[in-house]
Amino acid sequence: MLPPISIYIPPKHLKISHMFKEYIKAFANTLFPKICLYCEKKISKGYLCTVCYKKIFFIKPPLCIYCSSPINHTPNNICKKCTNKLYPYDKIISITAYKEPMITLIHYFKYKNYDFLAKFLSSLMSEHLLNSGFNLNEYDFITSVPAHPTRLKERGYNQAELLGKLLSNSFKIPFKNGIINAKIIKPSQTILHKAEREINVKGSFEVKERMMNKKIILVDDIVTTGSTIKVISEALKEKGADNVTVITLSKTL
Ligand SMILES: [Zn+2]
Ligand SMILES: [Zn+2]
Repeated sequence: MLPPISIYIPPKHLKISHMFKEYIKAFANTLFPKICLYCEKKISKGYLCTVCYKKIFFIKPPLCIYCSSPINHTPNNICKKCTNKLYPYDKIISITAYKEPMITLIHYFKYKNYDFLAKFLSSLMSEHLLNSGFNLNEYDFITSVPAHPTRLKERGYNQAELLGKLLSNSFKIPFKNGIINAKIIKPSQTILHKAEREINVKGSFEVKERMMNKKIILVDDIVTTGSTIKVISEALKEKGADNVTVITLSKTL
């Protein structure tokens, strides 16, 4: 089956010739996805060859509930690193390790306008959640980490929102959009060090509605230091949320 046709909005900073090449590549991959995005071997369908697909490192339970690292079963499912620490969210589940071929796939998804990868990537998430026996039906709704308005304008879509919406379809749970505001223009998280990141995100998200007693799933594409999801979870809890469970496509191990 062919993936849905997506509208390619080239980032403003790209030069025309480069833009044109990117456009053709994105368009060709939308209509005729015949090359493995990681090793570039010819394939008949999908986005990865079977060899590269098998390289995806799925993080299998038991997981630490606060950092989603694999653990040997402990009574409370908390790893040594997370013991005696306070976390604003109740649980985090990351589906894959941020290793190849996920690094490449996420790069295309986030920075190369391959928004049509959302369906494939969200299916990795939903299948793994189902196989791990994770029950999403007890939650009131799914929401996603918002993109900063400037980056949303450049990119044309919020990759976390695409994943969240598709998960909401798969699990038949409502998706709530626009409840979290990204407030201040700040430098990209990727160019900052850990300590700087934590200061950078403090107060940069605002929850607009009351969340009294709500059980919420917060979706993001990738978790590195966790500073963004901590700040958002804190804001959701301040508005009365009863449970915030974070689900991310990938995590750095
Ligand atoms: Zn391959
Ligand atoms: Zn942990």
